[in-house]
Amino acid sequence: MQKKHRDTGEEYTSTTTGAIVPARQVGPPCTCPNKCYDIVGRDNINQVFENYWKIGSHDGQSAYLAAHVSGKPVARKYAGDDSRRKVTYEYSVEVNGEQKLVCKVSFINIHGISKKRVENVVAKVGKTGVSPHDERGKAPSIKKTPDDVRQQIHSHILSLPTCASHYSRAKSKNCVYLPPGFTHRKCYELYEKDCADKGIPADKVVSFIKYRFEFMTYNIGTSPPPTSTRAASVIRPNSTSTRRRWRRMI
Ligand SMILES: [Zn+2]
Repeated sequence: MQKKHRDTGEEYTSTTTGAIVPARQVGPPCTCPNKCYDIVGRDNINQVFENYWKIGSHDGQSAYLAAHVSGKPVARKYAGDDSRRKVTYEYSVEVNGEQKLVCKVSFINIHGISKKRVENVVAKVGKTGVSPHDERGKAPSIKKTPDDVRQQIHSHILSLPTCASHYSRAKSKNCVYLPPGFTHRKCYELYEKDCADKGIPADKVVSFIKYRFEFMTYNIGTSPPPTSTRAASVIRPNSTSTRRRWRRMI
């Protein structure tokens, strides 16, 4: 129970300290010159916040955060400087299917999360190169799914209809469920169709195995428990084009 409330941003009592941890909320606006909260808009900020906490699992939220942070190497100042390559990070939120760049403070406060949470994800991303990362000069890994392709998979997964399980008394670790009939295979077929509709070239469409691998990073069950079907909800609206953002960034 504690974990579920923690992962959905609701108030809970810590079992270790006994303290009441208040419900998550959107933090204050940044003070950077871009005025990021004005760019995104209050309604959209609330939507992004709700969609984030609706993911309902720590791993799924990490995957989401990683997908919205991208690293860009900073040019070295001195020739022959062998010190570790420096990277700057860009943070974005989705507004009406478009990715809007925001500063780190806004990124943290819009999601109502801690600086540490974001930094941990960024640190992990830096190590694995899973998330958007400029890999110039490196031979591409055969196993690695390219970032724009992953973005497409994730935005498809987040567009799937789900039933929230907090209406269920069933004790289960899954927080959201797909409606009956939405097997992994069915979701993959919808993903293939979505890619075809968007005119995504065949080499940017992953295999079922790779799709399912990305799917498993979310805490989404494929068959709802008997009592959970009262409320259907959508994780977030379908992304019109995450690819557009990547094109802009490259
Ligand atoms: Zn800002």
